Amino acid sequence: RLEIQHLTRRFEGKTVVDDVSLSIQPGHVTCLLGPSGCGKSTTLRMIAGVDMQDSGNIYVDGNLVCDTVFRIPPERRSIGLMFQDFALFPHLTVERNVAFGLNGTRSENRARVEQLLDRVGLLHFIDAYPHELSGGEQQRVALARALAPKPRVMLMDEPFSGLDNRLRDGIRDETLALLKEEGTSVLLVTHEPEEAMRMADEIALMREGRIVQRGAPYNIYNAPADKAAVAFFSDIN
Ligand code: ATP
Ligand code: MG
Repeated sequence: RLEIQHLTRRFEGKTVVDDVSLSIQPGHVTCLLGPSGCGKSTTLRMIAGVDMQDSGNIYVDGNLVCDTVFRIPPERRSIGLMFQDFALFPHLTVERNVAFGLNGTRSENRARVEQLLDRVGLLHFIDAYPHELSGGEQQRVALARALAPKPRVMLMDEPFSGLDNRLRDGIRDETLALLKEEGTSVLLVTHEPEEAMRMADEIALMREGRIVQRGAPYNIYNAPADKAAVAFFSDIN
């Protein structure tokens, strides 16, 4: 479970993220939608711990991970990341890529890697190198790597935008199923209205640093808060 309270971030006097609060239950997906520059990635960066908020609190499973004085480092937050250009390590095999964030014994790590690769249908690539895989296969390995340490929260910033349309639907559905199985709380940034409608349990519309509307996808689709949201959803049939 991810909870953020009153998160605020200013750059050079400009408030880029303005009093943002959200709560995401295990196995649930919240989609953050908004125009370029509205503060989506900055919000994710603060949650991940690679940027620091000016005020507000972040909790994972009820435990404080960051406020303005206390700060747990990124690798100890139980938060996984998937970004568009989050490349695999080219010089490591698929096995070592997926095992990268694990700190169990060799055989425990091997078992977890095999379980996840099997789950995404890529066990036969365990000894391959990233360049031997297609873009879609690399994306699946990246998903396995992000999920390997069993993060309680997954932050995804347009993770599918580098894939062509033919591949995207399948990987989206697979990713969603796996995240639900693992009970991960997901915060997903996307520019694609269809992706939001397909994947989200809840949509949060962001404008100039603020959340202006939240609700079930169907409700947001039927009663968007502003003209920009109407335009955004108008391409969906
Ligand atoms: P996009 O959809 O284009 O990815 P976004 O919603 O993710 O946009 P952010 O990357 O969060 O937008 O940026 C929000 C605003 O904060 C922008 O105006 C950006 O220029 C500004 N900003 C982000 N990081 C910094 C920084 N380190 N220093 C100064 N300004 C920054
Ligand atoms: Mg961004």
